[in-house]
Amino acid sequence: MANPQLTKEQRIQLFAPLFKHVQAELLALSGGDARLMWALRRKLAKELGYLERSTPMARNKLKAYMWAKQRGKCALCGEPMEQKGSELDRTEAYLGYVESNVRLIHHECHIKDQARKHYA
Ligand SMILES: [Zn+2]
Repeated sequence: MANPQLTKEQRIQLFAPLFKHVQAELLALSGGDARLMWALRRKLAKELGYLERSTPMARNKLKAYMWAKQRGKCALCGEPMEQKGSELDRTEAYLGYVESNVRLIHHECHIKDQARKHYA
C-alpha cells in the first residue's frame, strides 16, 4: 500500500504551523549563532529520522532477531542469506521497524521487490 501523505488541507492546517513553530524555535534557541543553528538543525533532523526509522542499534537488534527467526533464510526467495548485507523490509512504512511489520530479505531481492511494486 502507498505510504500515507498529508492532504492539501493537512499541509495547510497542521504542517505549515508546525514547521513555522519549529523554525521560530530554532531561530530563538540559536540566538543568531550560525554554528549553533546548524548543530540544532542537524540534531533535530537526525532525531526525526530515528522517530520514523528507529535508531541504528534498534534496527540491528531487530535484524539479528529476524535472521534467527527466519533461520538465516530470505523471506522472499527462501534461499540462505548472510545476516550482514541483508535488509529489513517493512510491510507498511508508517508502522515502523517492529517484528510484526518486517521481514528480512536479500539486498538483491529487496531491489527486485521494490521495482516490482513501483512498476505494478
Ligand atoms: Zn532473497
